[in-house]
Amino acid sequence: MTLPAERTFPRVSPGLLERARAALVEVLSPGQVRHDASTLENYAEDESDSGVYPPDLVVFPENTGQVSAVFRTCQALGVPFTPCGARSGKSGGSLPLLGGVAVSLERMNRILSVSAEDLTAVVQPGVITGDLMKAVEAQCLFYPPDPNSWEFCTMGGNVAENAGGPRALKYGVTRDYVIGLEWVLPSGEVVRVGRRTIKGVAGYDLVGLFVGSEGTLGVATEITLQLIPKPRHVKTALVIFDSVHTAAHAITAVLKAGILPRTLELIDDVALQAVDGRGFNFPAGAGSAVIAEVDGNMEEGLFAELAWLGEICEQQGAREVLVAQDESQREKLWAVRRVVSTALRSLRPHKISEDIAVPRSRIPDIILALKKMGEELGLPVATYGHAGDGNLHANILYEGPHQRALVETAIRRMLELTVSMGGTITGEHGVGHAKREYLAMEQAETVLELQRRLKGFFDPSGMLNPEKIFPAPKRS
Ligand SMILES: Cc1cc2nc3c(=O)[nH]c(=O)nc-3n(C[C@H](O)[C@H](O)[C@H](O)COP(=O)(O)OP(=O)(O)OC[C@H]3O[C@@H](n4cnc5c(N)ncnc54)[C@H](O)[C@@H]3O)c2cc1C
Repeated sequence: MTLPAERTFPRVSPGLLERARAALVEVLSPGQVRHDASTLENYAEDESDSGVYPPDLVVFPENTGQVSAVFRTCQALGVPFTPCGARSGKSGGSLPLLGGVAVSLERMNRILSVSAEDLTAVVQPGVITGDLMKAVEAQCLFYPPDPNSWEFCTMGGNVAENAGGPRALKYGVTRDYVIGLEWVLPSGEVVRVGRRTIKGVAGYDLVGLFVGSEGTLGVATEITLQLIPKPRHVKTALVIFDSVHTAAHAITAVLKAGILPRTLELIDDVALQAVDGRGFNFPAGAGSAVIAEVDGNMEEGLFAELAWLGEICEQQGAREVLVAQDESQREKLWAVRRVVSTALRSLRPHKISEDIAVPRSRIPDIILALKKMGEELGLPVATYGHAGDGNLHANILYEGPHQRALVETAIRRMLELTVSMGGTITGEHGVGHAKREYLAMEQAETVLELQRRLKGFFDPSGMLNPEKIFPAPKRS
């Protein structure tokens, strides 16, 4: 996440708002339209730390027809409207920057079907990701995308951000599992795109376009997902290294050898220092760790695969390979990874976390370059995350607001280094509000303009989720 300077946008006039409130109560019900202070406060922020932008009204539609009616009402009156799910986003996508109407999809939270025969599930957008995972696993099916926020984020938010998680290394991200959508366009028109079959290539890939559109091209009101059979066994190991550089090289060596674990999560020296002793004591001299996890149906094969992975890591200089023998040991290893983000605050009171991604072969280079940058600027940098797929959470740790200018220099340099290595400024959290001013580092003006035109085609009035993703066009 990035800290853009808080900006002031024009607000909707009180008269127009009153007309909007009255019209929305007509198409919904009084209990579905709220503007009390505590509701507005709740919907003013997400997890991006990128500002506080309260809406003027929050509406809670309960079906597709109501979502459509809300959109039509806002369009007719010229009031901006912004969709939201659980507001766990880390790029400010759900922030109603211009105020207006926050459209919460939280009440549309039913799992409509799970089909073991077709290997599909159909869900409403407000379903919590973890609830879907549990429901399909009860039928021996598997929905692999696992953003670390799975216990509280929604499927609609996952679709909008094309969310990914540790298992993306082997199984891919949300886009790889969404095959069909019921979609309400900014005009209020309802369309069905995609399919219910596993294969299908008819027409343009509108599902591919809408997934990852960050709530700027319409909203998902029904999501059709493909599933896979649940692997019967999972085995996990913690591999200890003396330095992050050795660990990064070992990750590359494992993948090069032809092993595709379902996760390869890296913890660097700074992050390791922060988590050491919190439920797990690292051996003396440990300077980095990797959590490697493999899955499949044959348990013996998985132990053999982990042993092979361990040998490769040892050849690269690993000090120790600890294989979890049962579920409680496995849980203990994952607890180490889960606590990293909070534990970092024990080193410095503030942190900015960027979700950069680089081509896998550049992981050692980017880690070294970020450490060097941190030393030059006097700001510790902690790197951890999904190193197996090149997506790293690079955290700049700092003391307080007096270091803000320095932190902004560090963010810019970090993103420049990432792009210079063929990487991207965001591997999973999206651009939204937080990274809007950095997108031009990665994408040419012609590409930005093409996307602005797409947005203009779907939303000519620009009332849906305004001022997001794309920086203002350059004046010639
Ligand atoms: C502790 C923590 C860990 C996280 N870990 C990960 C991770 O591992 N991987 C990852 O990818 N992300 C992660 N995130 C970020 C976040 O959880 C994801 O981006 C998630 O997909 C957001 O879902 P949400 O329901 O909270 O959406 P919100 O934050 O409410 O909204 C996000 C965007 O989706 C749009 N939107 C919401 N609902 C719909 C809809 N039905 N149709 C269209 N657009 C819609 C909004 O307008 C907004 O632009 C993490 C966040 C936290 C706080």
